[in-house]
Amino acid sequence: MADSLKNGDRHVVVVGAGPGGITAAMILAHRGYRVTVVEKAGQVGGRSACLHAGPYAFDTGPTFLHQKFTLEEMFREAGRNLDDELDLIQLDPMTRLKWGQTSMETTSDPVKMAAEIERVFPGESEGFHRFMADQEEKFRLLVPCLTASYSKFRDLFRKCLLDALPYVATKHSVFSLLGEYFSDERLRLAFTFQSKYLGMSPWKCPALFSILAFLEYRFGIYHVQGGISRISEKMAEIAERDGAEIRLEASVREVLSEGWETSGVLLESGEVIKADAVILNADYGYAVTQLLSGHNVPEHKVRRKGFSCSTFMLYLGLDTLYKAEPHHQILFADDYRKMLLRFRKSVPFLRICPFM
Ligand SMILES: Cc1cc2nc3c(=O)[nH]c(=O)nc-3n(C[C@H](O)[C@H](O)[C@H](O)COP(=O)(O)OP(=O)(O)OC[C@H]3O[C@@H](n4cnc5c(N)ncnc54)[C@H](O)[C@@H]3O)c2cc1C
Repeated sequence: MADSLKNGDRHVVVVGAGPGGITAAMILAHRGYRVTVVEKAGQVGGRSACLHAGPYAFDTGPTFLHQKFTLEEMFREAGRNLDDELDLIQLDPMTRLKWGQTSMETTSDPVKMAAEIERVFPGESEGFHRFMADQEEKFRLLVPCLTASYSKFRDLFRKCLLDALPYVATKHSVFSLLGEYFSDERLRLAFTFQSKYLGMSPWKCPALFSILAFLEYRFGIYHVQGGISRISEKMAEIAERDGAEIRLEASVREVLSEGWETSGVLLESGEVIKADAVILNADYGYAVTQLLSGHNVPEHKVRRKGFSCSTFMLYLGLDTLYKAEPHHQILFADDYRKMLLRFRKSVPFLRICPFM
């Protein structure tokens, strides 16, 4: 973007109104940029959108909020207070984990969690305290690396990365790492199934990602009243209040460029929208191979990277409210590891969660 322009003179087109695109739109609109969001679907939210079926409404993707502090930061960047905009309820218990007849309820209250571990897996709570203390340190070292920009080669030599190196450059998987804390395999699963959020098996997922379980057990998880889709809808409302234009059913065929500078987008309708910058928030594998006109990455190069798998979802509308049931239940297969090998990259477990 030309540096001499004031924010208000700069037009940014955001492709895709999923949570990523709509966050960028909300923050840029608040900073005074002229923002146009183009979304091919008829609603915002992308994979976190709402599915309406008769009297029922379902979250199509995520069903609880993790890392509330990140969402708070995003709203702060847009000059808003998250708790004034959305109604969030902390879940306690967070999940009920079931292995056949054995079940355990998880919580972010460390005293209750240790007691629950002792009830179900006597003698193992010491490992829980050790795990949480070690992960706290790992998290402290990793946060600066995870939130830094890596746009220049020299960024790869940041001090924070060097400090975090022992945690990043390890051959451990999350499952093998958890062997240092718990002897019962089921308990190790309680602290490693979160690798499924990345579409990975705990036996293959690098140990770095043990911080996912830590984040959950340390900071808790939240239900958003009305569903997770309310987050994107609310951010879209705020962006519009700050002047952004959100155009639904507007599919982008090509990101236009002049030399190496983007100059706008061409819609499937044939309309051209000129822009000083384009934020492309469609799926990486599809976007870089299909939307970058003369600069597309060859498809075989992207395929070589491999894709993680998603999940099979069944949305059921029931006529009974099961008040005694927790927000989420996770049912592990009897031989979870064998199932993983059979399904290769897919991760079989059944997640049962309520409607909004
Ligand atoms: C079943 C399921 C469960 C999940 N559970 C979790 C979870 O528990 N926690 C979690 O953090 N994440 C979870 N996710 C992942 C989460 O939904 C995604 O990470 C998130 O939606 C990604 O946001 P995004 O904005 O980057 O992309 P998306 O949500 O994919 O949005 C991309 C948008 O771009 C639009 N688009 C694409 N191409 C074009 C085009 N050519 N022109 C215009 N618009 C275009 C799409 O229509 C879409 O709206 C889950 C996903 C699924 C499917």
